[in-house]
Amino acid sequence: MKFRSTRTHDRYYSFSEALQLGLADDGGLFVPETFPKYDLNDFQDLYTFPEIAYRFLQPFFKGDSLDSMLKYICSHAFNFPLPLVRISEHREQFELFHGPTGAFKDIGARFLAQCMHALNVPITVLVATSGDTGSAVAAAFHKMDKIKVVVLFPKGKISAFQEKQLTCWDSNILSLRVQSDFDACQRLVKTVFADQALKHKFHLSSANSINIGRLLPQCAYYVAASLWYHQQTGAKANFIIPTGNMGNALAAIWARFMGFPISKIGLATNANTTISEYFASGKFIPRESIATIANAMDVGNPSNMERYLDLAPQTDVFTYSVADEQIRTIIQQIHSKYGKAVDPHTATAYALQDEEAYIVVSTAHPAKFADIVEPLIGTVPLSSNLQKAFERPVQVVEIADDLEQLVEEIEKFTSK
Ligand SMILES: *Cc1c(COP(=O)(O)O)cnc(C)c1O
Repeated sequence: MKFRSTRTHDRYYSFSEALQLGLADDGGLFVPETFPKYDLNDFQDLYTFPEIAYRFLQPFFKGDSLDSMLKYICSHAFNFPLPLVRISEHREQFELFHGPTGAFKDIGARFLAQCMHALNVPITVLVATSGDTGSAVAAAFHKMDKIKVVVLFPKGKISAFQEKQLTCWDSNILSLRVQSDFDACQRLVKTVFADQALKHKFHLSSANSINIGRLLPQCAYYVAASLWYHQQTGAKANFIIPTGNMGNALAAIWARFMGFPISKIGLATNANTTISEYFASGKFIPRESIATIANAMDVGNPSNMERYLDLAPQTDVFTYSVADEQIRTIIQQIHSKYGKAVDPHTATAYALQDEEAYIVVSTAHPAKFADIVEPLIGTVPLSSNLQKAFERPVQVVEIADDLEQLVEEIEKFTSK
């Protein structure tokens, strides 16, 4: 299996190459050259997520140097439950938040980390975060001896709990608190990546959500959920998905395109309406993001749209947008009707008004967003995974929005 860029179609990359590059040389995103064809009977005797993921991912790894490691990678990356929980007659909740940092990003980040670890070469992963990505990446790579991780986050712009989750690591993880905003963090990271000498010297690699090594394992959980659902009900699954950068939703779209038993796919967005406007008007107009209480979905220029457009004439989805006030109301309603605490991102999916059966994709543990959820419904206990962040000592280095200082810190850290 080879991968190509969404922009020029004359060069092909192996999975390992695409994984390490992150973005194609022409700035495009990696997509499979052609999607594999599956016989659903091949999945009949498989039940657990690691087994199903392994079977599903095999064609993508064919001919790649990581092929023989795939089974090991799946069993180590996917070591926590992904339950489908019945909520009401027409709703089930697909809980993707039982990993180490309580967000669905753990699944992709852990798979990516296991792949990079299996490549067995020195790598420095450099990542700017506005919250959930950085902690998922740090947790996934923690204690992998050949890989160093440097995470930049903006001072005073993330929640206290998110900061705790970003600064509780030691050994191969360096957390840098930057005296500026998220855009400045991202600019610093981009500047370092654009410098070929630095890129080469530090063996830099990215781990952001457009990496194909995060997207493919996300397809795998839609494959698994649709097969479980089909087995239970004999029907195809409908999914409603909280959406920001469109990585999670695109994974469902790809899984359906490859023939798995999925019918409707809905994209729930917050007050950032770039995606819903595109589906209403056919015009894709990226803009600045708006701050909302579902902040991991505050995206004004969703990068995976480029992958969606690559496939667009052959697929169909629907979208809607939910304002903060409605998110708050839904959190209260779900709690009083079903006794269930949901986080603000998952709440956007519960806003769907449709009597048909849907699987609501739940992207974060509600305790992760306690500052929003608790004033609405009372105390939400931390899971034992999330509790661990409080048991570790804080380790963080503060820097200015300054390239020289950043390079100096990377230098010090990687030469240790
Ligand atoms: C990242 C994130 C999202 C948005 O996912 P995309 O793949 O960017 O669309 C939704 N909810 C939570 C909790 C997240 O961390």
